[in-house]
Amino acid sequence: MGTQNKKNKRNLITTIIIVVLLVLGFSGFYLNFTRKNKHLDNKQDISQNEDSIDRLVCDRTTRLDNDPNIDRALSLIYERLTEYGEDDSLFPPQLVNCIKVEVKNIKNDTGAEGYFDENNENIKPNYYPIMIDDWENFFADDLSTALLLVHEITHVQQYIDSYNASIDPNFPDYLKAAFKRETKSGCLDNEVFAYKNQLKFILKLKDEEKKSIDYRVLADENLHSQLEILKSLKDSLADLSIRGSCEIYDNDCINRYIHMRIYDLLRDSGKYDEQCGVYEGSYIGE
Ligand SMILES: [Zn+2]
Repeated sequence: MGTQNKKNKRNLITTIIIVVLLVLGFSGFYLNFTRKNKHLDNKQDISQNEDSIDRLVCDRTTRLDNDPNIDRALSLIYERLTEYGEDDSLFPPQLVNCIKVEVKNIKNDTGAEGYFDENNENIKPNYYPIMIDDWENFFADDLSTALLLVHEITHVQQYIDSYNASIDPNFPDYLKAAFKRETKSGCLDNEVFAYKNQLKFILKLKDEEKKSIDYRVLADENLHSQLEILKSLKDSLADLSIRGSCEIYDNDCINRYIHMRIYDLLRDSGKYDEQCGVYEGSYIGE
């Protein structure tokens, strides 16, 4: 009986996680749709202001030079995001061609396995440097590296969107401010999107790859830190109140609710106090 109950419970949790991921997939489609329209608008803007705009783009068709394990992870991301037609609901898959990963000892100083520094002076069109920790990198497998990179590449896309908006004279000021997200809550929102993209990426993996992540999340006592965070996200999303007070088919409402749940989890973990604390004083939850 106990085993049966456990089985039922596990099936229920699996079903809930699938529903959550489907909702995330749908919301990604919506974001993708609005982003495409935005790019269309930007293109029209460029034709009117050809000389004054030096936008950040990624139109390379081959990947930049990186260490072989990084290159494999970038290749995996591209493959999974283009397998059934191009899916740019996370970020445009072509962006992997413009990622330059520098492997350094950063965890001792920053506590981070990886980061994208918006103030890096080497950032230019078709070249976006990401730092990842040498120790974590040395022991990571391609899947964990790909998961970490999906998170950081999301921040690259956020920066590109915000930068392009900031130099676009036709972009309304209030939207520029919203894109910058220079508030503690805006900073945390950016993190929520990065974690949601990691969950969406897992959904796009092949069954055996998903299993490999699942087994490790369940059994590995020395869990890779990326998987540690995803485990707590999965745990937090795997309960019956996941829909909040949303109607069953109201995906916008469910998506907002999921966003809020991840937001609360990240805020309460204190993990982003330092990074997002620079904007302290702004009202949390605005
Ligand atoms: Zn982040």
